[in-house]
Amino acid sequence: MEKIQNYINGNLIEPKSGNYFDNVSPVTGEVYSMIPNSDLSDINEAVKAAKNAFGIWSKLSKKERYDHIMHLSNEIENHFDELVKAESKDNGKPEWLARSVDIPRASENFRFFATASLHFDSEIHEMDGKALNYTLRQPIGVAGCISPWNLPIYLLTWKIAPALVAGNTVVAKPSEVTPMTAYIFSQICQKANFPKGVINIVHGYGNKVGDALSRHPDVPIISFTGGTETGKKIAASAAPMFKKISLELGGKNPNIIFEDADFDNAVKMSVKAAFSNQGQICLCGSRLFVQKSIYENFKNAIIKETTNLIVGDPKDENSNLGAVVSKEHMKKILKCIERAKKEGGKILTGGKRIILGGKLKNGFYIAPTIIDGLSVDCETNKEEIFGPLVSIIPFDTEEEVINMANSTKYGLSASLFTKDVSRSHRVAAKIDSGVVWVNTWMLRDLRIPFGGMKSSGVGREGGFKSLEFFTEPKNVCIKI
Ligand code: NDP
Repeated sequence: MEKIQNYINGNLIEPKSGNYFDNVSPVTGEVYSMIPNSDLSDINEAVKAAKNAFGIWSKLSKKERYDHIMHLSNEIENHFDELVKAESKDNGKPEWLARSVDIPRASENFRFFATASLHFDSEIHEMDGKALNYTLRQPIGVAGCISPWNLPIYLLTWKIAPALVAGNTVVAKPSEVTPMTAYIFSQICQKANFPKGVINIVHGYGNKVGDALSRHPDVPIISFTGGTETGKKIAASAAPMFKKISLELGGKNPNIIFEDADFDNAVKMSVKAAFSNQGQICLCGSRLFVQKSIYENFKNAIIKETTNLIVGDPKDENSNLGAVVSKEHMKKILKCIERAKKEGGKILTGGKRIILGGKLKNGFYIAPTIIDGLSVDCETNKEEIFGPLVSIIPFDTEEEVINMANSTKYGLSASLFTKDVSRSHRVAAKIDSGVVWVNTWMLRDLRIPFGGMKSSGVGREGGFKSLEFFTEPKNVCIKI
């Protein structure tokens, strides 16, 4: 059985302990590879390699770093099919989704940030002819990049790419739940003769390897994407060491449909927002607020659309949804569905596990689920579930829906659907979230400041915001 290896100082190596644990494909429920059970000693070695490499890498010209990074971007494209299949098998998502979103974004992340680094500049503050201040933007050192399982290579590269182009070296810790594409990426780096020690990838459990990385004294900067509870732990361990941190955390995103919305577009987008990637995107619209005058019609339309979705073999181009990521996660989602029923929710469609035939019979599939009848402040409507489940809630007025939308601890993203331009500006300004989409969902421009408010995160990444995060500003004041 294939053994995934750590990538340290340009070498693909076993964990020091020699221990591995099972990697299960959610598509079949079968173990198909082994993951290094790394520990502090592996992290120490990776950080040492990254620290040694920092001296040379940080002093390369921007153009030299650009060339290295563009080479990686091209090599990802050369391994496109392999990565698509691996991401689908490891995560459970349909292959068409990995082909249209995850893998193109991985190469795009490198290309985008390599190019951005050539255009990135800093400020000058002139003091009425008396002095000139200018700001140097210098690389920081070894960046710790910790990423989740829902968009494995997409989010890993979203962190690695800006860290590298800014002149830092990296120790990355992908999710133990979906390590395969990070492993293939490390093979790509090795084959491409990427400079040794600049990228290091250590696999293993989050509470062991992730924790060791975020506490490491030689890692002054951490970029983390994952759950809010893990984010709290990282913030707590980083604070006494005054590390620079960026936290992209969970969400419980409202999707608001006003009565004047383009009905068909709102239905289509609401289904997409609820069930894309089996509802396992931090930006998924899991609370669907619909104005009362159109509630019944909208409810019927979204039920019809949802019952037409096919949950099936991720290899099949006709499957709209594949498997959820793991058995544990499937159990959690099914438990949340039971809780919703106890809270008074009515299952309008879905609400159960789906057993597919043949080799997929032990895979982790859940029917896309719509629930109504829940109060806005019940657990189902307050806590992130991260699965193919959406709660539909009626509202009367603009003011009421703004209050309901803002009633959770989260503040990552929101969508609203209306033809009234003034209303879209008014409501967007009052919603507590880092991103607001109007008449669409998850339309991403990589240049925007991306991140969440409240318990959805700290800081913003994307475009020059990422390059600002991964550099230290230093003001130089010259008296004239
Ligand atoms: P987790 O928080 O469980 O894990 C995220 C990463 O952190 C994984 O690599 C994990 O390793 C690691 N980790 C776990 N414990 C620790 C620790 N104590 N110290 C350091 N690292 C640790 O999140 P999930 O992987 O379950 O991902 C789902 C979550 O991510 C959802 O809440 C989702 O909303 C959020 N997310 C947010 C996004 C955003 O941009 N705001 C985007 C995508 C997802 P391991 O898996 O090996 O345990």
